[in-house]
Amino acid sequence: MLLYNRPTKPTDFDAKAQIQLARIETQIAASQQTLIFNESFWKKYKHIFAAAQYNKCAYCERKTTGHYGDVEHYRSKAAITTLSDDPKDWGIVIEPLNNVKGRKFEPYSNIGYWWLAYNWNNWLFACTICNSAYKLSLFPLQNRILPITKGVELQETPLLLNPFESINPVEHFTIDKQQILGFLKPYNNSVIGYETIKTCGLNRPSLIDARDEKIESMLYYLKQFNDKNDISYLYDIEKLGRKEREFAGIMRCIYEQETASLWSDLESWLARNPPQ
Ligand SMILES: [Zn+2]
Repeated sequence: MLLYNRPTKPTDFDAKAQIQLARIETQIAASQQTLIFNESFWKKYKHIFAAAQYNKCAYCERKTTGHYGDVEHYRSKAAITTLSDDPKDWGIVIEPLNNVKGRKFEPYSNIGYWWLAYNWNNWLFACTICNSAYKLSLFPLQNRILPITKGVELQETPLLLNPFESINPVEHFTIDKQQILGFLKPYNNSVIGYETIKTCGLNRPSLIDARDEKIESMLYYLKQFNDKNDISYLYDIEKLGRKEREFAGIMRCIYEQETASLWSDLESWLARNPPQ
């Protein structure tokens, strides 16, 4: 995962969102069992979030194209489910369809964070697979508080990384060089890393495969740089971690963990020493 700048909210957004929210509040007041949200409202803003994330999914870091991707509600709007810690309950992906079979969601609350359905700060851009096959209504928390009522979010500590919040992914994801390189692991037993991987299915086979080659390249360039002290490899390393590249976040994690130096320092150095 990579951190991005949250896109600027259009000036007329709050007024429009308030109209939508009022409709939900009317349904709540009428004790309507199933809330009906206006999906077309957030779809209108999808391109803004997609652009802010370089057309990459917030969770898996893969590029999406065309309609392939959704405005994802970080805190789920309609219900909340949980997923056990038994990997047998996490489901098996049917490649290449990316259907997931046997993922056992447990109901937790039939009320979700409905008041955040039209909240700019609760939106991000995610691929359909992370959003609709894996995460759905999951929202891992360190401290679960019931009932789910307006303002409860202020007391919660989420365990799902958000690319628009200032939690450093380097502290939460890593790889095992003795194992399949594309397989993500929580860094230092990070609970946030563990829950984010589990919630979004970040170790599904297609992602492991796609990551594997890039991670191999990163490790190769790092080794060449170290062994030969050849700075030309720094340019190759930087390319792998550019914001617009797939898996830039995990590339930066590996760089920082392997070198004990900051990615931002590498960028500063390259800015002072552009390629000849
Ligand atoms: Zn994704």
